[in-house]
Amino acid sequence: ENKEGKNAFVGSVDQGTSSTRFLVFTKKGEIAAWSQMEQTQTFPSGEDKVGWHEHDPLEIWNDVKQCMSEVDRILETNNIQFEIEAIGITNQRETTVAWNAKTGTPYYNAIVWDDTRTNHIASQVAAGDPDRLREKTGLPLASYFAGTKVKWLLENVSELQKDLKEKPEEVRFGTIDTWLLYQYTGSPSTAKGAGNINGLFLTDVSNASRWLFCDIEKVEWDQELVNAVCSPYQVPLSVLPEIRSSSEVYGKTTKDATGVGTMEGVPVAGILGDQQAALFGQTAFQPGEAKNTYGTGMFLMMNTGTKLVPSNHGLLTTIGYQIGADGPVTYALEGSVSHSGSTIQWLRDQLQIIDDAPESETLATEHNDGLYFVPAFAGLFAPHWRADARACIVGMTASHHKGHVCRAALEAVAYQAKEVFDAIYKDSNVLLKNLKVNGGGTNNKLLMQFQADIINVPVITPHIMETTAMGAAFAAGLAVGFWKDTDEIKALWSVASTFTPSMKEVDRAKNCYGWQKAISKSLDWIE
Ligand code: ADP
Repeated sequence: ENKEGKNAFVGSVDQGTSSTRFLVFTKKGEIAAWSQMEQTQTFPSGEDKVGWHEHDPLEIWNDVKQCMSEVDRILETNNIQFEIEAIGITNQRETTVAWNAKTGTPYYNAIVWDDTRTNHIASQVAAGDPDRLREKTGLPLASYFAGTKVKWLLENVSELQKDLKEKPEEVRFGTIDTWLLYQYTGSPSTAKGAGNINGLFLTDVSNASRWLFCDIEKVEWDQELVNAVCSPYQVPLSVLPEIRSSSEVYGKTTKDATGVGTMEGVPVAGILGDQQAALFGQTAFQPGEAKNTYGTGMFLMMNTGTKLVPSNHGLLTTIGYQIGADGPVTYALEGSVSHSGSTIQWLRDQLQIIDDAPESETLATEHNDGLYFVPAFAGLFAPHWRADARACIVGMTASHHKGHVCRAALEAVAYQAKEVFDAIYKDSNVLLKNLKVNGGGTNNKLLMQFQADIINVPVITPHIMETTAMGAAFAAGLAVGFWKDTDEIKALWSVASTFTPSMKEVDRAKNCYGWQKAISKSLDWIE
């Protein structure tokens, strides 16, 4: 309780690919109330729009407001007097929005991280060497990163192009964290169907490291990188958000921004990209500690401390977090996999062999019986980075049925994590002792056990499953003294369950060999 006898909470906005959530946490790290809304997925149709994926930025902001209002209502219904001491933001990374500062109107929908419309831009910039910008950015050239999306917007949205030329001071580019902070700290625009205006224009180090524009050693935007990606367009650094730490008071929510009285004047004090938030929420504060998140995609990330570890095996070198403006910048190695939970969604929505995600487990056969499924629907990310790879199901016989396809889809998630796990060892010489996991896929016990079997180390789920939201809450809470330090936070984290490897080495080797053969088919599909 705080001075006035009210319950003190920290709020967290978790704006993911598939949903938007608002949660409030107690000092003990427990969830006091939460609300969630499904995010509308827009896949524009047409032969020339294959691989496009968009979100409406105004829907995202409205959902945030609605979730906050719902949490307020839940607490009030339960007669809980409360005060939100700080709000943290965590977001789907790389998803890019451009908007006009004067009207508060987005120029175009947000282009989602897994949208592949910018493949041609990435390969143009690469000019035969996808690692051309790796030294400064830690990233290979791929459609995944925000910078290629900026270039596409400039090339295709004439109003944006015009404004950038004539009144660049009105143009804003941001990832979803920046968009939401702008909304939180702005005031309503008079323009119809617009968001707020005059908000703060900032991002944190973790999000900044995902554009291809940031020199990750200096931790600043680099005009040369911007030019390399966006040429022939002139993009001044002033249209990019100022880079700040992941944990500091950026500003306060303005009076009319959210429409929820109890959430006005609250410091917004933490920003972390969702995967970095999960790393932080898993309290993986030491170099060599890692987490894997099974969401729409899958992201295995290992803390490398203040050391920037370059990758020669298909991983990304990225910024983990920075706690406080004067705190050290913590780096990480990351393996990003584009299709994980989305493979299960595909079984449900496209193939229609399951009614919901949990059914993938109940229907799955005990063995794959030689069937392998590589879900390279839009190419492969880590460690292959091959936009031209395609999905395949191989090794099929007449005795296979949908249970085998479910099994193979779940195994594919685990095999992809294994590839990243091995790459981390090759790049850093660190053999992970265990794997802390979170995300929707961790509800699947078959997947978690198979994961432990295939990487041959224990897989651990935490007591608090909302690890991503927790990470952003931690960052915000630390900035306002709600929590004292990372030791206090570490003490809040505990194990819920451990999956111990039990597969025989010969079986593991046989299984992994089958996966490698399947991957080679997927890589060879397009000449
Ligand atoms: P995101 O943060 O990307 O929106 P979540 O962490 O909310 O993702 O996880 C959602 C994903 O988890 C979905 O793609 C869904 O298919 C998958 N998922 C949820 N439950 C299960 C389950 N029992 N088995 C396998 N996958 C699951």
